[in-house]
Amino acid sequence: MDSQMKLAKIREKMAGEGVDAFLVTTYLNWRYLSGFTGDAGQVLITENSSYLFTDSRYTEIAAEEAPDFNVVETGVDIDPLKDALKKEGVRSLAFEKDQVTYANFERMQERFEGIRLEGVSRWIEGLRMVKSPEEIALIAKAQEIADEAFSLASRAIRVGATENELALELEFTMRRLGADGLAFPIIAVSGARSSLPHGQPTDNKVAPGDFLTFDFGARYKGYCSDETRTFVIDPLDKKHEEIYKVVLEAQLAGLEAAKPGVPGKDVDAAARKVIEDAGYGQYFGHGTGHGVGLAVHEGPSAGKKGETLLEPGMVITVEPGIYIPGFGGCRIEDLIVITESGKEILSGSPKELTVIG
Ligand code: ZN
Ligand code: ZN
Repeated sequence: MDSQMKLAKIREKMAGEGVDAFLVTTYLNWRYLSGFTGDAGQVLITENSSYLFTDSRYTEIAAEEAPDFNVVETGVDIDPLKDALKKEGVRSLAFEKDQVTYANFERMQERFEGIRLEGVSRWIEGLRMVKSPEEIALIAKAQEIADEAFSLASRAIRVGATENELALELEFTMRRLGADGLAFPIIAVSGARSSLPHGQPTDNKVAPGDFLTFDFGARYKGYCSDETRTFVIDPLDKKHEEIYKVVLEAQLAGLEAAKPGVPGKDVDAAARKVIEDAGYGQYFGHGTGHGVGLAVHEGPSAGKKGETLLEPGMVITVEPGIYIPGFGGCRIEDLIVITESGKEILSGSPKELTVIG
């Protein structure tokens, strides 16, 4: 979808809501709409115009990146947004109510006196859920970089290596292979710490018999990837083997359920059932998956309450896990894109049980 198509969709929503204009104040949302990558700005859409307000640090790049927008320079003692609202004759203004703080809302009330303010929810987030082929290609590229980096960085895994060292090696390798940066701080947890689903790496050393979990993603041209793999450090005991087997089976069941026309919660239910049936239900607290795009966590949800029906172009994760406090945990996460006929798995790293000796 190019900027003009996105603007047309937003204008349909404006007409439906009966407002004259829409103010976008959230970074990833204005980035998505306009293409502008700078992190200071606001976008105003009226029936016939589209403005991008930013300060002098960004006006040059903004004009280049957002050709469909009238780029206006802001400053400390001017209020060009207010001037534009006046010039456009705006009497009612929609704003992103999920994102605007109460303090900012109060300031808007004062600043835009006489204009009716209308809080609206997820207008752009809703558009962002279905990716264009260009966006899918960027996500797939981010995933490819992450997989290649993981394969190279995994060679550094050995007894005595710290979680921090291994995370750094993976981060460095992703950057070297062309990632803009990380999609999120790498999770690298071993031994009993692997029961922390979102544990930060520490100087904890990898030891024999550990689970070792990595959850990692690259960012490429703004788009994120997201994947988790768990290894066992030799020797492998029965309990690790069993837990891994259950999680993998749950993950495959989740993948099987992911297709167009079903709500995200069906993916969750399919994966959760396997874990519950194996007696580990109490050790799987989080949702099975989430959308990925410009943000690493976005819509649609593939959790217990994921009502949104999956459709072609949606990119989600499938990532069940079992986490036993004091023992350790295991998660397996793939990134997939929903297609007309089902899904395509973007993750390329092997996921059969690997024991590192
Ligand atoms: Zn992840
Ligand atoms: Zn995830």
